[in-house]
Amino acid sequence: MLDFEYLEPTTVEEACTLLQSYGDEAVLMSGGAAVTMWISQRLLAPEAIISLAKIPNFDYVRFSEKDGLTIGAGARHRDIEMSPLVRQHYPLLYETFSKVAQPRIRYMATIGGNLCTGDPATDPGTSLMALDAEVTLTSTEGKRVLSLEEFFVDYYQTALKQGEVLTEVRVPPPAEWAGWSRIKFTPRTEEDFATVGVSVALKVRSGECEDIRLALNSVAPVIVRAHRAEEVLRGKRVTDELVNEAGEVAATEVEPTDDMRGSADYKRHLVKVLVPRAMRQALERIDG
Ligand SMILES: Cc1cc2nc3c(=O)[nH]c(=O)nc-3n(C[C@H](O)[C@H](O)[C@H](O)COP(=O)(O)OP(=O)(O)OC[C@H]3O[C@@H](n4cnc5c(N)ncnc54)[C@H](O)[C@@H]3O)c2cc1C
Repeated sequence: MLDFEYLEPTTVEEACTLLQSYGDEAVLMSGGAAVTMWISQRLLAPEAIISLAKIPNFDYVRFSEKDGLTIGAGARHRDIEMSPLVRQHYPLLYETFSKVAQPRIRYMATIGGNLCTGDPATDPGTSLMALDAEVTLTSTEGKRVLSLEEFFVDYYQTALKQGEVLTEVRVPPPAEWAGWSRIKFTPRTEEDFATVGVSVALKVRSGECEDIRLALNSVAPVIVRAHRAEEVLRGKRVTDELVNEAGEVAATEVEPTDDMRGSADYKRHLVKVLVPRAMRQALERIDG
């Protein structure tokens, strides 16, 4: 057994002060799904664990027409999946959170912990990126707000600085004329990480694509926003040819590697197939 101090601050301020004073010797823990695994595998040997679990009101899920959705970093995947507000206003998030791992993990793992892991194979960051979400990072110095593209820096690396805690995720209000799709391609078992994941949110009025955001996971060192593929559709009348072209272009924006879920070539091929499929599904969901 490792010997470590277990600290349980009851405010974010206290957590930030502890983080500041322990520096690299401490690790933050939220749900613990990743941290406990890393410790048992001897990938981590912290002198102190700073648990965020005792901070009250850190797991809220709120919605207003004006501000959209705000989620406390301590909200568990299951809280988000089961929220009627999420189900009603952000079906893309409902679909995404209900397909992360299996219920045992979803009852444990938090949105903050998922995003802060910086794992490019994870699902929530992909759909949150497609919905233009922002994260608030808090330290003893104050707060800063970043887009998810700014937040995900490299493989298992985020923009979190020493002493910062991710405190809130905000998703803008849902757009009108909006369609969405989430495809998590997992040939082995539904509970696995995605071989390739695609999230798309688009806005089409009278056949013309007013806006589109396309994000992919498990295809590069970070979760990727496929800007060039978006441009294929943005401002244009949507046709089958353009949707297929967007898939071809998206495949040039990813950098997959070979792993136990498939070869790089196979994943690139999946991007070409799944991006148009997701776009068609999103178009079918638009009622305008
Ligand atoms: C068996 C298994 C299957 C999985 N399958 C999937 C899957 O299909 N899809 C998917 O997306 N994910 C999957 N995961 C990953 C899982 O979702 C993450 O491990 C989990 O979300 C981490 O959340 P946590 O709250 O438990 O984080 P912790 O384990 O508590 O922390 C993870 C990391 O984030 C840091 N951290 C935590 N909270 C904060 C915060 N508020 N501010 C700053 N840093 C913080 C910690 O210091 C640590 O570095 C799986 C995990 C397991 C174990």
